Amino acid sequence: MSPIVQRLSYSSISAYLACPFKWYLSQVERVPRPVSEAALLGSAVHEAVGQYLIARLSDPAPDLDRLWRAALGKLVRRNEQAAGIAWVRDQDAVLVEGRQMLVMARDLWLDHYPAGEPSRQHRIATLPTLLDTITLLISGGKPAIERLVRMAIPGIAVPFVGFVDWVEAGGIPADLKTTSSPWSVESANLELQPTFYLAALQQMGLALHADLLFRHYVLVRGETPKVQVIETRRRPADLEWALDLARGVWRAIENDMFHPNPTHRWCDPRYCEYWGICRGKGGGVQSGGEV
Ligand code: SF4
Repeated sequence: MSPIVQRLSYSSISAYLACPFKWYLSQVERVPRPVSEAALLGSAVHEAVGQYLIARLSDPAPDLDRLWRAALGKLVRRNEQAAGIAWVRDQDAVLVEGRQMLVMARDLWLDHYPAGEPSRQHRIATLPTLLDTITLLISGGKPAIERLVRMAIPGIAVPFVGFVDWVEAGGIPADLKTTSSPWSVESANLELQPTFYLAALQQMGLALHADLLFRHYVLVRGETPKVQVIETRRRPADLEWALDLARGVWRAIENDMFHPNPTHRWCDPRYCEYWGICRGKGGGVQSGGEV
């Protein structure tokens, strides 16, 4: 029997844990869902920053404004050709917000939380000032950016796959996020993404930092955007725990366990794209896949 999906990822595992029924609609039934404006903004910022880091390898001062416009235009076109975009404002408003955060903001507030050291707060001239401090790891003769990670997990019939945003010199993987409210160190420590990506990169033989560090770059939206750099550390036992968690999720998927989870904080019309057909009750769809 062929597996119900061809791969697992950290976001897929997180999505299953948040609401198995939403996971089923998205991953198995593939019910189309328009991308939210916030997700579009986040993806476009992500794309622009990634392009900036790549361009900086051969150009000391890449034009981040041009890269931002290109990234947003590309993602708008791609999503409009797919399930559409749930606009709250419009494309121009998103363009302006991204420009403000990436290019126009001056004297940005930076909260830096190094692992195991006191936090530091200071101001940076612009966001590129911070990006220019990032040194990418060179691995296999190439800068480690947008690197495909792939891992075999015993007991799971499909591979674990994902893309790590970049890996910094010293073997520290990093991820960029755009959020509406600041992160806490505690929430970074609980994130599944570092645990899975460190496990996968370790299996792939990448020379990781001895303390298994992961760095989150968090761009906090708002009238006065700010930046957080949060380092988080994992123990070898945490990586084993993540693989066990993945096996538990896989067993549940194989046993057709796709119940709705109306108690999750994302079970809300603002956050669940399937609210219209589910409303926290599973709609007319039963776990086990009968629609
Ligand atoms: S409305 Fe709630 S229970 Fe239904 S799919 Fe969305 S998150 Fe899950």
